[in-house]
Amino acid sequence: MNYIILDLEWDSVFYKPQKRFINQILQIGAVKLGESFDVVDTFEVTVCSEISNKVTGRFTRLTGITNEEMRAGVPFKEAVVKYNDWVGDNTVTMTWSNSDLYTILENEETLLDGIRFKIEKYLDLQVFIQNEMRLKGYEDKNQISLEAAAEKLEISTDGIDFHTAKDDSLVCAFLLKKCYNKDRFEKLIKDASNPEFLKRLKFKTYAISKINDKNIDKKHLIFNCPECNKKAKQVTKWKYQNRWFWANFICGCGKRFCGRVSFKKTFDDVIVRRTIGEFKVKKPKTNTAETAVIGTGE
Ligand SMILES: [Zn+2]
Repeated sequence: MNYIILDLEWDSVFYKPQKRFINQILQIGAVKLGESFDVVDTFEVTVCSEISNKVTGRFTRLTGITNEEMRAGVPFKEAVVKYNDWVGDNTVTMTWSNSDLYTILENEETLLDGIRFKIEKYLDLQVFIQNEMRLKGYEDKNQISLEAAAEKLEISTDGIDFHTAKDDSLVCAFLLKKCYNKDRFEKLIKDASNPEFLKRLKFKTYAISKINDKNIDKKHLIFNCPECNKKAKQVTKWKYQNRWFWANFICGCGKRFCGRVSFKKTFDDVIVRRTIGEFKVKKPKTNTAETAVIGTGE
């Protein structure tokens, strides 16, 4: 088994056929690691854009790649074919966070005419390293950057240019060697050839907006009284507002409240959130809030 650490540099460019900006890959860098995670080969190619003859200032500042260097690059399809040849067979490809995968997908769908990056098995190195760091006691809720991880784990980065594809891959390799744990590493390897892998990647989570959606488990629509914990009676229909459903409830004990629930559909699950708030009164015309709601129940 060979391990590839892939790092891409991309620039935002307006893509006329779809009248939108896309993240165009302009550099492919990678390192190949042997069984003991030592670097055995490196790869770097700069891409000549076919849809723009300029790069953004931000891109040049970040990567050091100038307009001239981009224009002297290799056509994109040729660069990907070259990369795929270099990758070889029987490999696990890793990237630092899966944002590279989204960019690959976008580029495959817009610019590559059926040519695809060769990724047999895949592992998100950022997830693995951050997990190992957590086990070592580094608490960090946000996704850690490559630079921050290298600094915290005291990886020497002398002579490293962050945000050049090959050097970023090298830093990843050092981090991996330092943190490697066989069981936890192998558990994170995904089979990228499985159609499920692509489906999962393409799936966008969304808020469920119809109360009779088949993904809603009706038990989440039952609310118990916050005071006596008995099942309360729903007295208004569900309304949908800012990704939340809400309805008024009245308990036998006399307690009135508003039950609120939201459902977020992810690829695997439905994430349910529930809160209880103040009994909602429909635009009271007078101060007698009570008469305003009674009677609208079902
Ligand atoms: Zn009650």
